Amino acid sequence: MTKYDFDLFVIGAGSGGVRASRIAAGHGARVAVAEEYRVGGTCVIRGCVPKKLLVYGAHFAEDLDDARRFGWTLEGRRFDWATLRDNVLAEVDRLNGLYQTTLDNNKVTTLLGHARLLDAHHVEVDGTRYSARTILIATGARPFVPDVPGAEHGITSNEVFHLPELPRRMVIAGAGYIATEFAGVFHELGTDVTLINRSDTILRGWEPALADRLLTISTAKGISFKLNCKLERVEQTDAGLVLHFVDGKTIETDVLMWALGRVPNIEGLGLDAAGVALNEKGAIAVDGENRTNVPSIFAVGDVTDRVQLTPVAIREGHAFADTQFGNKPWTVDYRAIPSAVFSNPPLGSVGMTEAEARNAYGQVRVFTSDFRPMKNVLAGRNERALYKLVVDASTDRVVGAHMIGPDAPEILQAVAIAVKAGLTKAHFDDTMALHPTMSEELVLMR
Ligand code: NDP
Repeated sequence: MTKYDFDLFVIGAGSGGVRASRIAAGHGARVAVAEEYRVGGTCVIRGCVPKKLLVYGAHFAEDLDDARRFGWTLEGRRFDWATLRDNVLAEVDRLNGLYQTTLDNNKVTTLLGHARLLDAHHVEVDGTRYSARTILIATGARPFVPDVPGAEHGITSNEVFHLPELPRRMVIAGAGYIATEFAGVFHELGTDVTLINRSDTILRGWEPALADRLLTISTAKGISFKLNCKLERVEQTDAGLVLHFVDGKTIETDVLMWALGRVPNIEGLGLDAAGVALNEKGAIAVDGENRTNVPSIFAVGDVTDRVQLTPVAIREGHAFADTQFGNKPWTVDYRAIPSAVFSNPPLGSVGMTEAEARNAYGQVRVFTSDFRPMKNVLAGRNERALYKLVVDASTDRVVGAHMIGPDAPEILQAVAIAVKAGLTKAHFDDTMALHPTMSEELVLMR
């Protein structure tokens, strides 16, 4: 008779939790995972995956415009939001099923319901009590909604995939990943989009030259920006929502979407009962092995607010399971994590910005390529791409690569291998160009 019902009890079946469950079960652990919404988590159900599909769907608008210059005549062109929305949601359902199948095939017990810690080894799910030798919290994060009167009239990225119809007007609050991505999507679909932000910065933390380029291109396309503004209240009227700003100005809109960052899901988890401590950001505090201050309780992914990216949560879950159940200890390397913004055009980035590299290394060399992609030239599309390499002058190592332009995220993933491997600018220069591509610019910067 074993002492516990399970060797591992995972709370949250998102990217980190599912990976940890599957790997731990593969190592022979008896695993249960509790999920209160849908197996798959933010990325699969209401994040990366449906967002990327909307990005593809929306981009046909510009592709169809450009097609004319390539000899195509398109008659009767029209867009139907319900078709795109329902096809995307059907794909989400399919992936949700695949995730469940993965858990089932690995003999992981799935418990649908809200889990709450009772103490260091016990969890309750909707009234039933379970014991576990080890507990993993992987409950993710949710959109932050500000405390302004009328905030409840706004939606978040949770609801945006279910909009009953394509809004005529949309205001997106925030200027980070989610705001710029959905601004691109809805603008291309024909919505009149306004982005509002508290500061004059868009994509804080990104290489400023790229963020400036996105701002310039987005403005030229017709997306409106109201920066340095402070929202006072949101009013629901017959004509729609009216946003009142402290400067006395107002904006009327059909949909308001909050995209102001994401906060860890820690409420109702029984963290106090188990004695689990939080860090200064209000996230679960963990050490390099994902262990909380309670030795039997671990946490991975967005609930720990280290790097809010799916591949990071997956690696954390994998490292946790290998270390605790597979006798294969390893930790996640957080250096040179590539990241992308699927705005229009998209951005990709890995490593240090120019400013970060100057702080770290003192002397840096910077190479840029500012060019109009061949396809844009023939299409008559006046949009320039910008690539930037940041090089540590003393070692010649490329310590940062940043790009905005068509397919930048696809190209960046390959560049990330070079940056992570510590390759030098001389290695880039030594590589023969692949012509004609956009990515050849990476080896032609002198
Ligand atoms: P971001 O952190 O990217 O951006 C937050 C935005 O909200 C900023 O413009 C910020 O302004 C503003 N803001 C933050 N707090 C407040 C506040 N209290 N009041 C008013 N404005 C505020 O958050 P997102 O919600 O866009 O995305 C959350 C995270 O999810 C991202 O950081 C990323 O890690 C992840 N994500 C990744 C994606 C990808 O990989 N492609 C896609 C979507 C999300 P300011 O700049 O002035 O500080």
